[in-house]
Amino acid sequence: MFIELTDLLRCPADHLESYLVLLPDVMEDRSVKSGELGCPVCSCTYKVVNGVFEAGGAPLPPASAPSALSAEAITVLAGLSGPGGYMALVGRVASLWKEVAQLNPGVVLVGINPGSEVDHAPQFSVIRGGSIPIKSNALRAIVLGKPYAEDPNWLSEAARVVLPGLRIVGEGSDPPPSLIDLSASSPGVWLGVKRR
Ligand SMILES: [Zn+2]
Repeated sequence: MFIELTDLLRCPADHLESYLVLLPDVMEDRSVKSGELGCPVCSCTYKVVNGVFEAGGAPLPPASAPSALSAEAITVLAGLSGPGGYMALVGRVASLWKEVAQLNPGVVLVGINPGSEVDHAPQFSVIRGGSIPIKSNALRAIVLGKPYAEDPNWLSEAARVVLPGLRIVGEGSDPPPSLIDLSASSPGVWLGVKRR
């Protein structure tokens, strides 16, 4: 886990948003290989194991079919112009992170519940859990792969963590208008912003 990602993290427990305090155990350059993250509000602790932030809770069962999205499509749909900030890839779509990183230089990528074959890397942080332990209004873009783009809780989490007016990309049927204002939609892929 990229150490500077700590500034964006929140405790996933159900209380008012709180930061997490990192107690690194093993570091490798700017990556946390192992350590602990603690919440000052509820005293919960979470572990970083093999570079992965284990945030607790269960991920959705992985999609049986591979993602139809390509790194090029993700880049066009996410629409980031220029470096800086963070983009999250949720589900098996995160296996495309290397190509996405090449197409979006200077953007830090976070993979949430990628396939088990996907490992963290210096430019790529991995989080596993049942929700998105990231502060509200923190990301420049988020891509929800299958089946996350059709789950109301994950849609709501994606809308919470992305900056207002910036893009949420989903692979699935169109999201409910109560959560996301749709900007564009084609069969199986949509693009929107959080509802104002
Ligand atoms: Zn807490």
